[in-house]
Amino acid sequence: MAKTKLTILLFVILFPVVHLPVQSTVGDKSFVVVIDPGHGGKDYGAIGSASNEKSINLAVSLLVGDYIKKAYPDVTVMYTRKTDVFIELDQRSEIANKAKADLFISIHTNANRSKTPYGTETYTLGLARSDENLEVAKRENAVILLEDDYERKYEGFDPNSSESYIIFEFMQNKFVEQSIFLASKIQSEFTNSSKRHNRGVKQAGFLVLRTTGMPSVLIELGFISNKAEEKYLSSKAGQQQLAKSIVKAFGQYKADYDRKSGMSAQEQVPTADNDSAVTSTRSGNETSGQVIYKVQILSANKKLSTNAPELKGYKADYYVEKGLYKYTFGESSDFDEIVKIRKSLIKDFKDAFIIQFKDGVKIINK
Ligand SMILES: [Zn+2]
Repeated sequence: MAKTKLTILLFVILFPVVHLPVQSTVGDKSFVVVIDPGHGGKDYGAIGSASNEKSINLAVSLLVGDYIKKAYPDVTVMYTRKTDVFIELDQRSEIANKAKADLFISIHTNANRSKTPYGTETYTLGLARSDENLEVAKRENAVILLEDDYERKYEGFDPNSSESYIIFEFMQNKFVEQSIFLASKIQSEFTNSSKRHNRGVKQAGFLVLRTTGMPSVLIELGFISNKAEEKYLSSKAGQQQLAKSIVKAFGQYKADYDRKSGMSAQEQVPTADNDSAVTSTRSGNETSGQVIYKVQILSANKKLSTNAPELKGYKADYYVEKGLYKYTFGESSDFDEIVKIRKSLIKDFKDAFIIQFKDGVKIINK
């Protein structure tokens, strides 16, 4: 019996099979961004003298999505709404969670009792440090009062009571750093590219951000209650400018994300393996025409040493594709067997997926 097969067998024996949903994904999952135009339908949001929040939010959101699709064709763009419909708050984060989104951007327009305030703000989830920020969260969260059964759904949360907001004090959000990073990029672009007044990156208890399992921000594009700003917000040129700024910031966030996850295809790559040719470097067990399954466990933009911590002690093989070193573990011509191997790997590599090779070349689809 070949040594690799023996290792596979040992793994199957040593690691009990856990029943996890099996996905035979081929290729890497693309970056998913969910854009959330605030309000909609019966919920108008803030109302100005000649415009309303829900329409401004939707117009800017659709532009943001269009620009992202054009500039980053590999990114999957999703919306919580694309038309003038009412979407409950908890459904918005659910859409993002179900899609396993990498980023959630909620887009809103501000309002104040005074006609004076103007400018942009970007929020991340947290406890408001000023009454002014708390007021913004209260106004945005008040939309739940339009939902049936909101007391049960939001566990007695009263959007108008300051006491309710104490829950955000003890909120541990592991995405806070990335969220603030994006928020600050957005605010910089609003200032530098769109020449808007910068009111800063802020924290407040927004229900819509509370249950999203990914970095998330809530943008307040400007004040509909300020005459000059309302005019800008409802103009096509203003909306395009704001959307462009958000997409520029998104681009910087995405570049940082790619760099950190070692997924940047722009990275300079060693020349040993050619970009276009996908070679299985160390698999000698294939006979001509036979399909061999492997489990891909991670990608890196450089070759890892055999004892690299990323490999968690596994003696992994690799192949090179589009400048990335893609590490695999296990190989078999038996699909059921590779499914078992993948299951055993999930505890160490939660995104492990099955790929297939024919004559040493990776093939797509079944
Ligand atoms: Zn709003």
